[in-house]
Amino acid sequence: RELPGDPDSSKRVRQVPGACYSLFEPTPVTQPQTVAFSREVAEQLDLSPNACESEQFARVFAGNELLPGMQPFAMCYGGHQFGNWAGQLGDGRAINLGEVMNRGGQRSVLQLKGAGRTPYSRQGDGLAVLRSSVREFLCSEAMHHLGVPTTRALSLVLTGEQVMRDMFYDGHPKLELGAIVCRVSPSFIRFGSFQVHSWRGEIDILKQLVDYCIRTDFPHLGEPSTEVYLQWFNEICRTTAELMVHWMRVGFVHGVMNTDNMSILGLTIDYGPYGWLEDYDPRWTPNTTDAQGRRYCFGQQPQIALWNLAQLANAIYPLIEEVEPLQQGLQIYGDIYQQDWRQMMADKLGLGKFNPATDEDLVKELEQVLMLTETDMTIFYRRLATLTAGIDADDEELLQPLLAAYYQPDELDADKTARIAHWLRTYLTRARRSGRPDDVRAEKMNRVNPKYVLRNYLAQQAIDRAEGGDFSMIGELLDVLRQPYDEQPEKERFAEKRPEWARNRAGCSMLSCSS
Ligand code: AMP
Ligand code: MG
Ligand code: MG
Repeated sequence: RELPGDPDSSKRVRQVPGACYSLFEPTPVTQPQTVAFSREVAEQLDLSPNACESEQFARVFAGNELLPGMQPFAMCYGGHQFGNWAGQLGDGRAINLGEVMNRGGQRSVLQLKGAGRTPYSRQGDGLAVLRSSVREFLCSEAMHHLGVPTTRALSLVLTGEQVMRDMFYDGHPKLELGAIVCRVSPSFIRFGSFQVHSWRGEIDILKQLVDYCIRTDFPHLGEPSTEVYLQWFNEICRTTAELMVHWMRVGFVHGVMNTDNMSILGLTIDYGPYGWLEDYDPRWTPNTTDAQGRRYCFGQQPQIALWNLAQLANAIYPLIEEVEPLQQGLQIYGDIYQQDWRQMMADKLGLGKFNPATDEDLVKELEQVLMLTETDMTIFYRRLATLTAGIDADDEELLQPLLAAYYQPDELDADKTARIAHWLRTYLTRARRSGRPDDVRAEKMNRVNPKYVLRNYLAQQAIDRAEGGDFSMIGELLDVLRQPYDEQPEKERFAEKRPEWARNRAGCSMLSCSS
């Protein structure tokens, strides 16, 4: 057991064989101050808004006070980073406080991110800064309201301390405000949690962890057995496929899909250098660390998830000792992904059931149309829903509702205009053949195509203001993003395309892993 404030704690950073976690307490901070909390997550934990505004709340969620029953620990895990095995990683700056069972019997694990060093901190300081914490807090809540499976965020607190960070864009170290987010999830177990034990040959511990995971988070599968292990793996393949379809639907790019950042529950986890697609470009990644290889760019995400699942299959192989059934699980991933992705695209277009005979080509050509010129993906789909022109309308009239989605409307020469208009005619013909009136189609489309997403530059604006002591934009964004599919006329500015000043600007569309 490590003691907080232990002067030698930095020397205790080490390999931790034979354990799934280490008991370890958060490091107290000087001046806890609650900056924001999520009322929905508080409610899930049976916490009243009053409780969340109390000084004790700030103390507990800054790691300064333990409540009765809390026995904090940091988890041990490994992972493949950018395709290479990285050995033991573990929670270098995340400490689980414990679990809460709410009045409805729903279980939640509370985890502080940025609460000080742990045995897994390696070279890191165990801390997090306001910038990255605002990003995690806002995005996890935004994702939840979009209907995308995700870990949640209860709170964002300032620690009163300053943290040194190397800013990637000028290479100069900078002092930033320290902050801590309390993440909430039924489980924080990752693919890498299993990999680390398999790698060390700790097959008994591997089995213990798999059994624990099944009993705790997959109780519907029944008592663990070889058969149940396979069902468990199949279910992870399914939920991961579903998660990828969601990310592709809303234009989310995770940015660091290492196997240690893959939740065993198919949740979005670990909000680092993530970003939202602005102009549609499958090769786009916000992560400057990945700008060369683009391993984790938007269009690669489904493939990478499959690769990560294959690593998980390798890790649990010793419990199954047969390749074939694990390969079938990976096949399930591919099948479900393809089937759900197609239906998701049909839904985005308001077409009802995906019809391979017509829609395969329609969707393929749409991809080209979206890349003809810089096209804001989010705005494009919302505008497409408003299309009411007849198919015999001329090109300009057809394109009119879409103009707001284009970053460079001047680039639309006659050829490009004609190609887009041709696609729109094909689309309208297909849509109207389904017998759905335009207004019904629009209504259905607007339920899967968000109007409001956490645009990269908006998050950066909220951060810039927060660093100056004005936290109001965090609350404002949280509010708008609660109803991402609804028109909010007084909040229209949050739905506009990225302004030109934010193009290629650090923080707005480029981020590094350093957080
Ligand atoms: P990530 O890129 O956020 O998935 O982090 C990769 C690994 O680095 C994880 O094991 C983190 O716990 C660890 N890590 C990231 N930042 C820090 C930090 N400031 N101090 C200690 N460990 C860190
Ligand atoms: Mg991580
Ligand atoms: Mg991270």
